Amino acid sequence: MQLGVPKELYPGENRVPMTPETAKKLVRLGAKIQFETGMGLGSGYQDSEYTEVGAEAVTDRAALLASSDMLLRLRKPELNEISQMKRGCIHISYLDPFNEHDLVRAFAEAGVTAISMEMIPRSTRSQKMDALSSQANLAGYIMVMLAATRLPRIFPMMMTPAGTLKPAKVFIIGAGVAGLQAIATAKRLGAKVTAFDTRSVVAEQVQSLGATFLEIDLGDTGQTKDGYAKELTPEQVQKQRDAQAAVIAESDVVITTAQVFGRKPPVLVPREVVESMQSGAVVVDMAAETGGNVEGSVPNEVVDINGVTVIGLGNLPNYVCRDASVMYANNLFNLVEDTWDKDASEFVLDLDNDILPGCVITHDGVVVNETIKNILEGAA
Ligand code: NAD
Repeated sequence: MQLGVPKELYPGENRVPMTPETAKKLVRLGAKIQFETGMGLGSGYQDSEYTEVGAEAVTDRAALLASSDMLLRLRKPELNEISQMKRGCIHISYLDPFNEHDLVRAFAEAGVTAISMEMIPRSTRSQKMDALSSQANLAGYIMVMLAATRLPRIFPMMMTPAGTLKPAKVFIIGAGVAGLQAIATAKRLGAKVTAFDTRSVVAEQVQSLGATFLEIDLGDTGQTKDGYAKELTPEQVQKQRDAQAAVIAESDVVITTAQVFGRKPPVLVPREVVESMQSGAVVVDMAAETGGNVEGSVPNEVVDINGVTVIGLGNLPNYVCRDASVMYANNLFNLVEDTWDKDASEFVLDLDNDILPGCVITHDGVVVNETIKNILEGAA
């Protein structure tokens, strides 16, 4: 089975889908690997590190796309690349299938089997393949780093002959994977951390990290069977905004990570609340690219609102691209290895197993994922 790894072309993206380590493991499985020259450079991997473990460097991208039985990559392909792929090819990457309707249709028309890394089920067995988690973890860390370097104060308490400095107050909204890592990172730096999440089950996790869980009675919130938050009613959102306002006003740093899977993130911090914060305070809106939890945050920019620094920078794992690549490449390898037939040296597309039905979006000329199929039919 020939595995192809094209070079990432998205501007500024330095993460890569294969490390020399995972290339070595794929070769050991029996895969024949071709990668586009320079594929690993964004994360500091030279072509020679891949060729040394048995992968072949090629310069002709179109030929690579046309000849691969399986393509491994990070970001979704350009639309015009899909028709260049071989019918029956398996393409694994992030796809954003909830929004990328044309892309999904093009995959189906081309007879390419598209696997979406966002749609890997959140089960115990699939944790090692879960790229949303591995990258969100790093994003949680980075958000605290970005805030710490822009705050005109330090995070820990410091008692010195020159005076005592109080610890910074950090408020984190949303305690999923990214939020919990942000809490842990801010705590390690010595901040006083408070957090809120609509899923009350995470209160214990927040407290076990040494942070305070802000209690807000929103009535029925709950979570889906996959552990995701349910969308709040407008009344619940208003109640949450009101209950958080005082905590935000006295925080040095606010980090928002609230997401509702498959939907636009809720606006939880209105502009007047940002304006109520002390001058020099920092807000990091992880959701800025997809609509924002914070009113006034601008995707991919750092803006000033009444003396408050509001960070809307995107692609946060890219700030630590080397580690992000290690984790993403491991996620991909684990997914491939999971249904690899060692005797036949090929990936077996087992649509009856517990993982693939959730993340295979198109197969054999049609959209097979029920959720995405319903969305596409609704949009047509
Ligand atoms: P996510 O990115 O979808 O959302 C981030 C957080 O925002 C969630 O904790 C969510 O509850 C919270 N949120 C939503 N609306 C909010 C609001 N109005 N106010 C405050 N917070 C709000 O979530 P995620 O980080 O991907 O994790 C979702 C769940 O999946 C978690 O329970 C996590 O533990 C679970 N999970 C399980 C596995 C696994 O078992 N393999 C892997 C990863 C995550």
